[in-house]
Amino acid sequence: MTPAAGAGAGATVIGGISELVTNDPRLGDGSELGTVLDAAMVVDGGQVIWAGPEAQAPAADRRVDLGGHAVIPGFVDSHAHLVFAGDRAAEFAARMAGYPYSAGGIASTVAATRAATDAELFHRAAGLVHEMRSAGTTTVEIKSGYGLTTDDESRSLRVAGRLTPETTFLGAHVVPVEYEGRRDDYVDLVRTEMVDACAPHARWVDVFCDRGAFDADEARAVLEAGMARGLLPRLHGNQLAHGPGVQLAVALSAASVDHCTHLDAADVEALAGAAATTVATLLPGAEFSTRARYPDARALIDAGVVVAIATDCNPGSSYTSSMPFCLAVAVRDMGMTPGEALWSATAGGARALRRSDVGALAVGCRADFAVLDAPSYVHLAYRPGVALVSGTWLGGEPSP
Ligand SMILES: [Zn+2]
Repeated sequence: MTPAAGAGAGATVIGGISELVTNDPRLGDGSELGTVLDAAMVVDGGQVIWAGPEAQAPAADRRVDLGGHAVIPGFVDSHAHLVFAGDRAAEFAARMAGYPYSAGGIASTVAATRAATDAELFHRAAGLVHEMRSAGTTTVEIKSGYGLTTDDESRSLRVAGRLTPETTFLGAHVVPVEYEGRRDDYVDLVRTEMVDACAPHARWVDVFCDRGAFDADEARAVLEAGMARGLLPRLHGNQLAHGPGVQLAVALSAASVDHCTHLDAADVEALAGAAATTVATLLPGAEFSTRARYPDARALIDAGVVVAIATDCNPGSSYTSSMPFCLAVAVRDMGMTPGEALWSATAGGARALRRSDVGALAVGCRADFAVLDAPSYVHLAYRPGVALVSGTWLGGEPSP
């Protein structure tokens, strides 16, 4: 890195960074994390315009000193279900006491969500986004999926759209109780009237393709209906049992297939293929909260699969909004190194959302980052459960 000339008017030098993770392998130590010690960034117009050793930083009008803290790209939480009412604490307590999971769970959230006002749904979702932000998340995807009527799904997406551009239509989450015994009729509703009403409010279409949810033909019909209306596909697959989810995701060039707990060699091979563009998104909070087997992140990474980590924040199977928690579990129980887990929770999440402007602090990226009350990102996994994010910045400004 050569010394740069002075930055333009309005630029800010952010210095005093003990360790800067850029996710730009051209910078710093040359690893995937692109880590620079004793670093600074220059931010202008909400974007990173320079990053490197502080001693070489160009001059700028304004200077902020972070006082020797580590800085990481803001977390990109690429899988969250935040539009719902009620909670399921009693169900969680029963599960932890050894009672088997009952399928009635989602139905209770659907009933509470339908009964809630738009304002109540927004208030809850906004509160969770605030919680996420205070733990360092700067980009979040939000799914519908607890309305399961045309009106309730479209209003869920309108609520989500007030909080993020990454909105996902998940009308095919489960078959609602009023369609029991008539699942074909429900799939027809989702892929016609419901997707017509929801597509204007969504970027993505998602399906829960798993045992007890939707099969491959149903999932394909819904995803293709969304794609025909301009939505991009992603899906839940292979969480509860081995199934067709991963192969379907790869066949449709979905941006991501999420969970990936029960994979066979052909699934790993498909995700690792040279032409594959589908990210494997792992959701450790779900296995943690259901005492289930964790996905084998090590095998995926060793095969060359792009892996993301997200929270799956939802009231039933993973009611955490904390990316640092998920990262720590991924390191402890899924065979990831602290560096791999951080990359997956930032750059990996950005890949899963097909975004090149977030998940890194390379030149041209949004200046979205988290300041850690620690000298190194390694502390995120080394000090689990400790609130280490002391500040979250969006577009180069501290977030309230
Ligand atoms: Zn999910």
